[in-house]
Amino acid sequence: YVPPESPELDRARDVLRRTFGHADFRGLQAGVIHELLTGHSAMAVLPTGGGKSLCYQIPSLIRPGLGLVISPLIALMADQVQGLRQAGVAAERLDSNISMDERSDIWRRIDAGEVDLLYLSPEGLMQPWMLDRLSRTPLALIAVDEAHCVSQWGHDFRPEYRMLGRLAELFPDAPRLAVTATADARTRDDIRAELRLQGAAEFVDSFARPELALSAERKRGKGHDRVVELVLERPGRSGVIYAGSRDGTEKLAERLNAEGVPALAYHAGLDKAVRARRLEDFLEADAAVMVATIAFGMGVDKPDVRYVIHADPPAAIEAYWQEVGRAGRDGQPAEGITLYGSADMAWAARRIETREAPDEVKQVQSRKLRQFYAMLEGVTCRAAAVRRYFGEEGVGHCGVCDICVSPPTGIDATQAAQKALSAVHRLGGRLGRGRVIEHLMGKTKDVTPQEAQLPTFGIGREFSQPTWRDLFDTLIFEGLLREDPNDGRPLIGLGDVEGVRQVYRNERKVALRQTTDAPDSGGRAGGG
Ligand code: ADP
Ligand code: ZN
Repeated sequence: YVPPESPELDRARDVLRRTFGHADFRGLQAGVIHELLTGHSAMAVLPTGGGKSLCYQIPSLIRPGLGLVISPLIALMADQVQGLRQAGVAAERLDSNISMDERSDIWRRIDAGEVDLLYLSPEGLMQPWMLDRLSRTPLALIAVDEAHCVSQWGHDFRPEYRMLGRLAELFPDAPRLAVTATADARTRDDIRAELRLQGAAEFVDSFARPELALSAERKRGKGHDRVVELVLERPGRSGVIYAGSRDGTEKLAERLNAEGVPALAYHAGLDKAVRARRLEDFLEADAAVMVATIAFGMGVDKPDVRYVIHADPPAAIEAYWQEVGRAGRDGQPAEGITLYGSADMAWAARRIETREAPDEVKQVQSRKLRQFYAMLEGVTCRAAAVRRYFGEEGVGHCGVCDICVSPPTGIDATQAAQKALSAVHRLGGRLGRGRVIEHLMGKTKDVTPQEAQLPTFGIGREFSQPTWRDLFDTLIFEGLLREDPNDGRPLIGLGDVEGVRQVYRNERKVALRQTTDAPDSGGRAGGG
């Protein structure tokens, strides 16, 4: 959508140049801004770095009245307010860190019409006295940042966002803008419904990142050896390595340092001053490696990050895309490499199950987890899979991801899968994966006479142990088997019943991806 040239846009472009120092609008910015300047509400889904904030900042400066920005994180608000002030914009925030004295001063200036933009958390906004105060203040617009937080279908649902549905009736005259970097089609529909934006124009930008080469590989054990190898293969470049635990970041950083790579650990358990210093070192260095938990990320903008490695994977495509998206911000070639294993998936699933959240939310999160692993395990172009997930249509292959560069060959392992599933069924979920594989291979150690008499005993001698392990991983990733934690000694049981039935009836094929370290897996699937 290209808005018509209009006096409103001329004015906006003028502000863009004078106040923000940019030559022209990017992507869909002009469209969104035009919509707001003409008094209409809108919804904008723009990728990270796409310039979402200018979409509401510029109209707030041009339209009469105060621009309200709702944002979930104090750190993000503080960042934006500081940046705006440096550009000479009268921006303020009211959050729990602002003192009483500062508050009354801010309100005095708002009443005098001296404030252009006010940043608030949803809780802060919805307090009765705040609403009352704002109802007497002319508003230029209301922007809801990170709008996916309003939706249970999003990856970061926040109950306090739900209250924002009332904004439409409370402030009927102010145009509203919902912005987010990640929203699949279902989440977008939900945002519209929740925020009463049914009639609003929708702007969805392309998520293409042609400079980003994505890849994913199954890991052996913790995968730390592989991470070290990957880093050593990329000397003199800056990278971010995501690990799932604080301990993991420390251990990896130590190992890298031992290999002569200066690497810093970064997580929420570190002293604030230490974190600030490490962040600064990282941002300034020409070649630095940061080993971090997800505490690292929000607002970090280092353009020359050449690779992001997931030593442990995230739990949804949204988080994945945000994290790998921190590589290659300068538009130069960069890589996103993800290591994953079925244990990671089981652990994430367990975390979702034990979370304090409504059942519907947990179901959504479980589904997102499965979709993410289906992408990792899949044989379609990574970038295309992600972009389709976000609702982009007509997406072609990227040409640079691992799948595009060397398409994996799969072998049909449906018959072997049938054997594995019936063995698990016969054994009734009483054994761990290793023992079920021994059962299939007919190993007699530890075996009871009853077990040895089962028809599934020894029917899988055509595969080696590593190949069976791979197949079990595949079956877990596809939801056909599930591994229950059982206090650290996981038991293997049947998963999705309908799926299992389809495999038994040959209505659903199971393919095993050929990997270099399972050389015996070629062509012998189902040969027994
Ligand atoms: P988002 O919130 O979408 O991740 P930001 O609003 O923080 O992105 O903008 C990302 C970066 O792009 C910022 O450094 C911003 O100054 C810059 N930017 C935004 N719009 C433009 C533009 N039209 N031209 C050049 N740079 C821009
Ligand atoms: Zn590709």
